[in-house]
Amino acid sequence: MKDNFVVLGAGAAGLGAVNRFHNEGIRAKVYEKCAFAGGHAASYFSNGWIFDDGPHISFTKDERIRKLFHESVNGEVEAFKALATNYWQGHWIKHPAQVNLHGLPEDMVVKIIMEMMDAKAAESSEINNYQDWLYASYGPTFSETFPMMYTKKFHTAHASVLDTDWIGPRLYQPDMEEVLHGALSMHTPDVHYISDFYYPTHGGFARFFDQFPEYGDMNYGHEVVEIDPAGKYLVFADGQGDVFSGLVSSLPLPELIPLIKGAPVDVVEAAARLACSECVTVNIGIDREDISEAHWTYFYDEDIPFARISFPHMQSPNNTPDGCGSIQMEVYFSKKYKPMTGDADSCIQPAIDGLFKCGLLKPEDKILFKEARYAPYANVIFDLERNAALELVHGYLDEIGIRYCGRFGEWGYHWTDGSFISGEGAAQKILNH
Ligand SMILES: Cc1cc2nc3c(=O)[nH]c(=O)nc-3n(C[C@H](O)[C@H](O)[C@H](O)COP(=O)(O)OP(=O)(O)OC[C@H]3O[C@@H](n4cnc5c(N)ncnc54)[C@H](O)[C@@H]3O)c2cc1C
Repeated sequence: MKDNFVVLGAGAAGLGAVNRFHNEGIRAKVYEKCAFAGGHAASYFSNGWIFDDGPHISFTKDERIRKLFHESVNGEVEAFKALATNYWQGHWIKHPAQVNLHGLPEDMVVKIIMEMMDAKAAESSEINNYQDWLYASYGPTFSETFPMMYTKKFHTAHASVLDTDWIGPRLYQPDMEEVLHGALSMHTPDVHYISDFYYPTHGGFARFFDQFPEYGDMNYGHEVVEIDPAGKYLVFADGQGDVFSGLVSSLPLPELIPLIKGAPVDVVEAAARLACSECVTVNIGIDREDISEAHWTYFYDEDIPFARISFPHMQSPNNTPDGCGSIQMEVYFSKKYKPMTGDADSCIQPAIDGLFKCGLLKPEDKILFKEARYAPYANVIFDLERNAALELVHGYLDEIGIRYCGRFGEWGYHWTDGSFISGEGAAQKILNH
C-alpha cells in the first residue's frame, strides 16, 4: 500500500497529477476508461482529417506550462495572433462586439451606445445574476442581442439563472471612448483575452500531452465503477480491483459521487444538481481552404444551431488533406436546461444548413467529410444552484480524502493549463499528507 498513488482519468488534470508525482520520483497508477489519453482534449484521426474533441488551442499565459506542452512536441508548433469574429443576422463584426459595433444597423448602434451611457451613469444596481450584471454593464439592447443570446446557445440556460463568478476576463468591459471608436471604425485594437495561441504542427492538440503518459503506469480501458474510501479500494467494470494509499480523481463530480460506497444521500443529491452542458461537435471537410479569415466565430441567431465554429485546417495544415479546409461547429445541450431530442448525427444537416445560411458554405463546395461527436461533459453551467451544491460535494470529498481536480472535479471553468495545474495541486496535497 505504501505510496500506491492512483489517479483517475488521463485528461489534462490526470496527466498534471502524474507529472507532479513524477517530479518526486513516483510513478502513479492511472486508470482511464477510454483506450487513450487526452480526455476532453483528445484528437481524432480519420482518412487524413484531424479534429479535436471540440476546438482546442493553447493560449496559456503560464510560461512553465507553455514550455511543458511545447516540449511534448519538440517545439514543433504553429503560432498565431488570434482573430475572432461574430455573426449576427447577416452582419460579420470583430470580437468582442461591444467594442466593434461598426457595421451593425445604425439605429441599433445608436441605441446600444445611449443605453451603455445610461448604464454607466446609473447608481450601482443590485446584481443577483448574470442578466443583472449584463444590464448594468451594457444596457438592455446589447445584452439581449449578443451575450444573452449566446448564453442560451452556449450555456443552454437563460442569463437570469446564471451566477456571475465565472465572468473574469471573458466579457470585456470597455470605456465609452473605446465603444465610440469601435462604432465609427472597423480598425480597433485587439482586446480579446486570447491574443497569442499555439497548436501542434502534427497530430492535433492532444500531442501537447505526449510526454506525460510515459511518467505513469497507464491502465487504459479501466472504467472505475466503485470506490471504497474506507477500505481504500477501487472496483473496475470488469470486476477487477486495486488498492490505493492516495487517490486523485479528475472524474466529473456527478459521476464520481455515486461511485463512492457510503456517500450520504444529501451529497449524492447535491452532485446531481450540478449542471453541465453537453456538446455535439459537427465536423466537416471541404475541397477548399479559403473559408474564413477569423480563427473562430461566435453565432447569436436562434435559427443557426451552432454557438461557435472554428477551422482546424487554419490551426495546422496537417489537420486536413492537401488543399482542403475543415470546419468544426459546436452545438450545445444540457440535461438540466436543454435536453437533446435526437442523437448526435441528427445535428449534422441542420449545422450544414446553418453554414449555407451565413454564406460560409457555397453551393459549389464539395463536402468530403462529415461526422458528429458527442461529449457528455463540456462546460460547467454556473447556475445559481452551483455554489451551495459544490460546497457540500467538495466538503465531503475533503472529509474522505479523495483529491479532486480538473474542470469537472473542481467543477470550474478551467482550460487545459488550469486543469493540468489543478491535477498537479491535487497530487501535491497527497504528497503533503
Ligand atoms: C468546446 C470546448 C472547447 C475547449 N477549448 C479549449 C481550448 O481551446 N484550450 C484549452 O486549453 N482548453 C479548452 N477547453 C477546456 C479543456 O477541454 C479542459 O480544460 C480539459 O480538457 C479538461 O481536462 P480534465 O482532465 O479536467 O477533464 P477530462 O479531459 O474530461 O478528463 C477526465 C477523464 O476521466 C475519464 N473518466 C471519466 N469517468 C471515468 C471512470 N468512471 N473511470 C475511469 N476514467 C473515467 C474520462 O474518460 C477522461 O479522460 C475546451 C472545452 C470545451 C468544452
